[in-house]
Amino acid sequence: MTAKILIVEDEAKLARFIELELTHEGYAVNKAGDGRAALDMALAEEYDLILLDIMLPGLNGLEVLRRLQHEKQTPVILLTARDSVMDKVSGLDAGAVDYVTKPFAIEELLARIRVALKLHHAPAGSQAGPQQNAGPAPQPGVLAWGLLVLDEKRRKVSYDGHDISLTNREFLMLKLLLENCDIVLSRETLLDRVCGYDYIGETNVVDVYIRHLRAKIDDIFGIKMIQTVRGAGYVIRREQ
Ligand code: CA
Repeated sequence: MTAKILIVEDEAKLARFIELELTHEGYAVNKAGDGRAALDMALAEEYDLILLDIMLPGLNGLEVLRRLQHEKQTPVILLTARDSVMDKVSGLDAGAVDYVTKPFAIEELLARIRVALKLHHAPAGSQAGPQQNAGPAPQPGVLAWGLLVLDEKRRKVSYDGHDISLTNREFLMLKLLLENCDIVLSRETLLDRVCGYDYIGETNVVDVYIRHLRAKIDDIFGIKMIQTVRGAGYVIRREQ
């Protein structure tokens, strides 16, 4: 299956360069040179991934991202010229899955693209959540654990029908743990998969996300879903 990628970049030379590289890698590629065109295309077409420059004429990239996120869950990697922490934080808060600072090596961008596509488009049927409990038959893209349901396409999590509001990273972390039921995931693995493989920072940010997940799920519904394995990491075990 050919992944379809939208490149949003107003620097024509750079856009062309990325287009050539991605086409060479076998991706199907479209380009947009300003924010409004990008938003129109992103809403009208189904892309597997969007590379979105922040500094754009028309609408800036963050605004495109915010508006897009109201409508659909296409994963977005931000391209930022400014190595600005504010841009990164607002971009990730707005729902971007990753960002790449310009200038970048093309190998770095390609690696980020592969990670984002893998993380956000796990093939249907590879979902290995526990399904022993009676309930609706498993659907593709839906992970279940007891009364907890994570719907990947709709990007929704609920427990016994009650919606749980998660940030992008909390959602990704929960998804990874559910996909890897009974496998202990180290903080490094969780960090790599959720924050990007070369995230520079402390692995204890993982503990922070886990704490948020427990506060929003375990504590509220009185369950013990995410278990800490001392010295090893975290795991969600199949229910007995
Ligand atoms: Ca630009």
